[in-house]
Amino acid sequence: MRYKSCYWIESGINFDIDAYKVCCLYSAKGGGNTIIKNNYKGEPVDWDNVFAFKEMMKNMHKSGQVYPKCEECIYLEERDWNEDHTKISMINLDYWTKCNSRCSYCHTMQDKDRYNSFKNYNFLPILKDMIKRDILRPDGHVSFGGGEVTLLREFDKLLHIFMDFGFPLTRIHSSCIKYSKAIEKGLKNGCVDLIVSVDSGSKEMHKKIKQVNSHDKVWSNLRRYADHQKFPYAVKSKYIVIPGENDIRQEIDLWLEKSKQNGINFVFHEIESKWFYARRENVPDEIIDLFKYAKAKAESLGLRYELYERAEHMMEYYHEKRLDHNAGV
Ligand code: SF4
Ligand code: SF4
Repeated sequence: MRYKSCYWIESGINFDIDAYKVCCLYSAKGGGNTIIKNNYKGEPVDWDNVFAFKEMMKNMHKSGQVYPKCEECIYLEERDWNEDHTKISMINLDYWTKCNSRCSYCHTMQDKDRYNSFKNYNFLPILKDMIKRDILRPDGHVSFGGGEVTLLREFDKLLHIFMDFGFPLTRIHSSCIKYSKAIEKGLKNGCVDLIVSVDSGSKEMHKKIKQVNSHDKVWSNLRRYADHQKFPYAVKSKYIVIPGENDIRQEIDLWLEKSKQNGINFVFHEIESKWFYARRENVPDEIIDLFKYAKAKAESLGLRYELYERAEHMMEYYHEKRLDHNAGV
């Protein structure tokens, strides 16, 4: 049957610090981040309830409505969805908060000591249970967010299970301050892609945003990872634009040039969350121009350039607004 849905609704799940959710995305106008179970501390998952929740969302969409939290999400797609309704194929993991960076925009900066000492639950038993119940689809993929993944004690074990299970892609977000042999192995095997938010070009800006002295370490680790990638687009550097702080063309130039020099062929561009959510309907032209500038510059250097989630929404709104304006709406 033809209806609006997305891969998360159909077969995804997000394990957060104290909840499991349909997805981890907040950038839809409706707010996203749909919680299935709150106050969660790692106990066995009620999978019947998970699939019933998804069925409720799908039935709503089949009737022509949209689940309110998914309003205007760019990942909603109208088509025939023939997914297996009893399997999970996308997992996002961000159930820990310990981190060795101190990014100025991170929500953990509200109380870094608490977030760094927070004791997370373990995902390993949940994953083993999923495999035992045969609800994992082998063609699926997983994304590690966090917290810093290399500080998660069960990370190596989890990654090896995903690789052995045959998941074609595990996406890993890392601060890149600590080097991981498990990530290196995944890059060599071609089943891992790694995203590192550097958010700067110069050493000074790196220090200002990251609030730790990690510039040299991060770039040398990025180089080391890039040297091991089987596929040329596996290691990605990312730049989150924080208007008023790093929305500077010179920094963008340096970021792109350093990426190129360090063997990185793929860059992601993103916009800072709090700033964007406060102005999503009203993003100034200078910011739009900065993103256009970065795209042109990246392409001139032969880099693959893509927008990350919020920036994708931002540019989509911008194009829609322009179309409406040109049509006189
Ligand atoms: S917010 Fe978007 S990605 Fe998340 S479940 Fe809704 S439609 Fe899917
Ligand atoms: S690397 Fe991620 S988790 Fe760590 S401080 Fe930065 S944004 Fe927060």
